[in-house]
Amino acid sequence: MDPVVIIGASVGGSTAADTLVQAGVPVVMIERDLARVKPCGGAVPPVAFREFDLPQQLISRKVHHALVHSPTERQVAIDVVGTGATQDDDYIAMVCREEFDQYLRQRAVRRGAALVEGQLLGLAVDARGVDVQYRERDGGATRVLRATAVIGADGAYSPTAKALGLPNLPRCVAIQERIRLPEAQMARWLDTADLYLGREVSPDLYAWAFPKKDHVAVGIGTGPAHSKDARRLLANLKQRIAPELAGGEIILQEAHALPMEPRPQMAFERVMLVGDAAGLVVNTSGEGIYWAMKSAQLAAEVLAGSLPNPTVARLQQYDRTWWRRYGSMYRFLRWLQRWGYGNPRQMEVFTDMCRNRDVQRLTFESYLRKTMTPVPWLAQLRMTGDIVGAQVRHLLPSRARPEAAIAGR
Ligand SMILES: Cc1cc2nc3c(=O)[nH]c(=O)nc-3n(C[C@H](O)[C@H](O)[C@H](O)COP(=O)(O)OP(=O)(O)OC[C@H]3O[C@@H](n4cnc5c(N)ncnc54)[C@H](O)[C@@H]3O)c2cc1C
Repeated sequence: MDPVVIIGASVGGSTAADTLVQAGVPVVMIERDLARVKPCGGAVPPVAFREFDLPQQLISRKVHHALVHSPTERQVAIDVVGTGATQDDDYIAMVCREEFDQYLRQRAVRRGAALVEGQLLGLAVDARGVDVQYRERDGGATRVLRATAVIGADGAYSPTAKALGLPNLPRCVAIQERIRLPEAQMARWLDTADLYLGREVSPDLYAWAFPKKDHVAVGIGTGPAHSKDARRLLANLKQRIAPELAGGEIILQEAHALPMEPRPQMAFERVMLVGDAAGLVVNTSGEGIYWAMKSAQLAAEVLAGSLPNPTVARLQQYDRTWWRRYGSMYRFLRWLQRWGYGNPRQMEVFTDMCRNRDVQRLTFESYLRKTMTPVPWLAQLRMTGDIVGAQVRHLLPSRARPEAAIAGR
């Protein structure tokens, strides 16, 4: 049998490769640039380590607290605690993508996947397979590889989706600096991830400071309407937290797009899309690592089960299973992003909502363990009361406060 060819060997591509080789399917991964580090905040839920059997050494720092900053700098401190009986997995794992991606890629290769450094140029699908045209990185020769099927795990700009004639997805842009701090300054960030809300740092998403072993990753995300302002928004964030970054040295500047909407269809004639290529980033948080790995695993399982005859009808089991499992979560989080980050007033309401203990625990339960716990009616009442109360308070003109005074707005 011709191999399955996977375009992109980042978190999604390597997970698809690993799943397929373990099912006995021959695999070739084609990765454009093996030295490139994917721009990323690197926050991963602990459930990923269990589900994908990842070693704890990949965790650069475990974070047990979060601090949400409203536009007017009201702060809400939150413990990273879910609703589970044990708290062993109640932390956010911060990883460095250069180590994380490398581990996944090498594990897939160790288990039997072939890896080629080259750039996808085009696909020609016929009734019996796919011709994959690519340019080798070393020497620049153009080659054609015959594949049984193709998995596009090639990110937000997905050349695989382009080769299928699919439209671009709406994209936001995220830009980040990794800043190494003097030891005394680093103490502030040891165990806390900070989220910053406010028009001057992100008109429609949020900004962050995520600590790693020896540095802090400071970044902002913003939607298509403001992407040209991304550098200015990041400069505003750095000004807003300047005392906490004093003496810092920038060790890396990085930026990349994130898809803002899932694709309506992810499985086609002998071709499947996973991760960012399929638009599977969660809106409210910009979380995409777990979802890229999870979608890649599911797509690979469906594909392996449909070989040697991967008809579209069989491959679309991937679409059906995915949306049955996660459709309501994506819809809810998309609504939450529009409701909570829509304007400075709603960002204040969102911050108030974060004070509610039930909201905190349910949010972290769904993030840490990817499970939706049934909510007792008393907790539902408390949450509804708090949210309505916050909404009303912030609608009253007397409660309006000026946004944090930061230049450049
Ligand atoms: C600044 C920033 C911060 C983020 N922070 C977080 C976070 O904290 N937590 C989180 O969960 N998510 C975060 N994300 C999102 C996360 O990085 C992505 O969702 C995730 O990397 C998607 O994985 P993927 O495998 O689908 O695609 P990618 O990681 O984008 O990988 C695509 C791969 O395809 C390769 N490729 C592209 N074109 C070709 C071609 N023509 N031929 C061959 N190969 C090709 C690329 O080189 C790349 O290796 C962040 C994103 C950004 C930009």
